[in-house]
Amino acid sequence: MAIRNIRVDGDSVLRKTCKPVKEITKRTAELIDDMFDTMYDANGVGLAAPQVGILKRIVVIDIGDDNPLVLINPEIIESDGEQTGDEGCLSLPGLVGTVTRPMHVICKAFNENMEEITVEGEGLLARAICHEVDHLDGVLYKDLAEDGLYETQN
Ligand code: ZN
Repeated sequence: MAIRNIRVDGDSVLRKTCKPVKEITKRTAELIDDMFDTMYDANGVGLAAPQVGILKRIVVIDIGDDNPLVLINPEIIESDGEQTGDEGCLSLPGLVGTVTRPMHVICKAFNENMEEITVEGEGLLARAICHEVDHLDGVLYKDLAEDGLYETQN
């Protein structure tokens, strides 16, 4: 268990396409534990492996509903509806931007035991899944922000 360094915008690792995970090794299991620690330490609701410098298709999400998620090789297989709202990212600290996302998604993935799972997300969870899956293909929310980014008020 350890807190890892979160890469920030400008680091080229955030713009790379991540590779699928084939099996859960001890290293991968440690990475997943560390990703949760790192996300909670930074008060985030989601974190993707490239944000800690690892180019693997792994994301962790916890929107505070007592259902922390590990999504390995996630794929959004269905999306509908629309929501427009503020979004932030641990790799762009202190900034937010307005992004339109689907209101509802269905995501196929594997869990930490490499069992196939299907996750349905509505509202914030749908937004978090879309945001984190984008990270695995080198996409940052600022690419989608309609009116650019602005600083958060503290
Ligand atoms: Zn992010």
